[in-house]
Amino acid sequence: MKVEVFDDLCISCGACITTCPDIFEWGEDDKAIAKVNDVPQDKLQCAHEAVEGCPTAAIKEE
Ligand code: SF4
Repeated sequence: MKVEVFDDLCISCGACITTCPDIFEWGEDDKAIAKVNDVPQDKLQCAHEAVEGCPTAAIKEE
Protein backbone atom coordinates (compact mmCIF):
# COMPACT_ATOMS: atom_id res chain seq x y z
CA MET A 1 0.00 0.00 0.00
CA LYS A 2 1.21 3.48 -0.92
CA VAL A 3 -0.12 6.78 0.43
CA GLU A 4 0.24 10.31 -0.85
CA VAL A 5 -1.10 13.61 0.47
CA PHE A 6 -2.31 16.14 -2.07
CA ASP A 7 -1.40 19.38 -0.34
CA ASP A 8 -3.83 21.49 -2.34
CA LEU A 9 -6.64 19.54 -0.65
CA CYS A 10 -5.12 19.36 2.85
CA ILE A 11 -6.68 21.81 5.32
CA SER A 12 -4.07 21.13 8.02
CA CYS A 13 -6.54 19.62 10.48
CA GLY A 14 -3.98 17.13 11.81
CA ALA A 15 -6.34 14.16 11.92
CA CYS A 16 -4.09 11.88 9.88
CA ILE A 17 -1.08 12.69 12.06
CA THR A 18 -3.07 11.96 15.21
CA THR A 19 -4.44 8.74 13.76
CA CYS A 20 -1.21 7.41 12.31
CA PRO A 21 1.85 9.38 13.45
CA ASP A 22 4.27 6.77 12.17
CA ILE A 23 3.15 7.43 8.63
CA PHE A 24 2.10 11.10 8.52
CA GLU A 25 3.82 14.24 9.74
CA TRP A 26 3.74 17.98 9.14
CA GLY A 27 5.57 19.27 6.11
CA GLU A 28 7.28 22.64 5.82
CA ASP A 29 4.15 24.41 4.63
CA ASP A 30 2.00 23.13 7.54
CA LYS A 31 0.37 20.57 5.32
CA ALA A 32 0.50 16.91 6.13
CA ILE A 33 2.95 14.73 4.25
CA ALA A 34 3.53 11.01 4.14
CA LYS A 35 6.78 10.03 5.86
CA VAL A 36 7.02 6.94 3.71
CA ASN A 37 5.52 6.01 0.40
CA ASP A 38 5.31 2.30 1.05
CA VAL A 39 3.35 1.65 4.23
CA PRO A 40 4.80 -1.23 6.28
CA GLN A 41 2.53 -4.16 7.02
CA ASP A 42 2.04 -3.29 10.67
CA LYS A 43 0.85 0.23 9.83
CA LEU A 44 -1.66 -0.66 7.14
CA GLN A 45 -4.67 -0.39 9.42
CA CYS A 46 -3.90 3.02 10.87
CA ALA A 47 -2.86 4.37 7.47
CA HIS A 48 -6.16 3.22 6.04
CA GLU A 49 -8.03 4.80 8.97
CA ALA A 50 -6.21 8.06 8.27
CA VAL A 51 -7.27 7.92 4.63
CA GLU A 52 -10.87 7.26 5.61
CA GLY A 53 -10.81 9.96 8.28
CA CYS A 54 -9.43 12.80 6.20
CA PRO A 55 -12.24 15.36 5.94
CA THR A 56 -11.22 16.54 2.49
CA ALA A 57 -10.14 13.20 1.00
CA ALA A 58 -6.66 14.64 0.53
CA ILE A 59 -4.88 11.31 1.06
CA LYS A 60 -4.78 8.84 -1.79
CA GLU A 61 -3.94 5.20 -1.25
CA GLU A 62 -3.10 2.64 -3.85
S1 SF4 B 1 -6.44 14.53 7.71
FE1 SF4 B 1 -6.42 15.33 5.60
S2 SF4 B 1 -6.82 17.50 5.79
FE2 SF4 B 1 -6.25 16.78 7.84
S3 SF4 B 1 -4.02 17.14 7.97
FE3 SF4 B 1 -4.31 15.05 7.19
S4 SF4 B 1 -4.27 15.22 4.93
FE4 SF4 B 1 -4.62 17.28 5.80
